[in-house]
Amino acid sequence: MKTITIEERQKVDEIIASNDMCYVGMVDTEGFPYVIPMNFGYAGDTLYMHSAPEGKSIESLEKNPNVCITFCSKNELVWQNEEVACSYRMKGSSVICRGKVVFLDELEEKEKALNIIMKQYSKREFTYSEPALRNVLVWKIEIESVSTRIFGVRHPNSRHYKEGESYY
Ligand SMILES: Cc1cc2nc3c(=O)[nH]c(=O)nc-3n(C[C@H](O)[C@H](O)[C@H](O)COP(=O)(O)OP(=O)(O)OC[C@H]3O[C@@H](n4cnc5c(N)ncnc54)[C@H](O)[C@@H]3O)c2cc1C
Repeated sequence: MKTITIEERQKVDEIIASNDMCYVGMVDTEGFPYVIPMNFGYAGDTLYMHSAPEGKSIESLEKNPNVCITFCSKNELVWQNEEVACSYRMKGSSVICRGKVVFLDELEEKEKALNIIMKQYSKREFTYSEPALRNVLVWKIEIESVSTRIFGVRHPNSRHYKEGESYY
């Protein structure tokens, strides 16, 4: 993964952990952008997804495995003067990751990945039957580059700026 500062890494982890879905962008078989909402798991520098073994996304990824995945924090609408449109801001932060999708074959690896996905949604431990593991397609994406941005906070030169606020 591209080198990022500890503060950025913490922010990335925080935004990803706060999400229960993400947007996975790929290039479809006609060369158009194709973006679908998906559930996910996150461990270290790797993202995991699961899906049916066929469909438009699978056909697209078989041709071109490159993906761009976006996560967004909960947003908040704020304003300085309710009557002034230009003073309205959307506070929020987002993360964009890039990588390549690899489909997992080994049942043991698939089970581990499904447990990582389930960890995002539940504290329970789960087991999976062999047919279930065979039928599900598990995607592994090693994050090759990542960026994060925080929006809607005041500029450091603003007299309203509060110490510690990040500005992008
Ligand atoms: C919150 C959320 C979480 C989801 N999590 C997962 C997940 O973890 N795994 C998973 O496999 N799927 C998940 N889905 C469904 C996913 O977004 C896709 O619909 C699904 O994966 C099928 O994609 P496909 O490319 O195989 O489409 P196909 O079934 O092949 O359908 C192709 C056509 O249907 C339309 N289409 C497909 N998906 C959508 C969509 N979501 N919205 C509008 N139109 C669509 C497109 O126009 C496309 O051309 C989730 C959806 C939501 C809303």
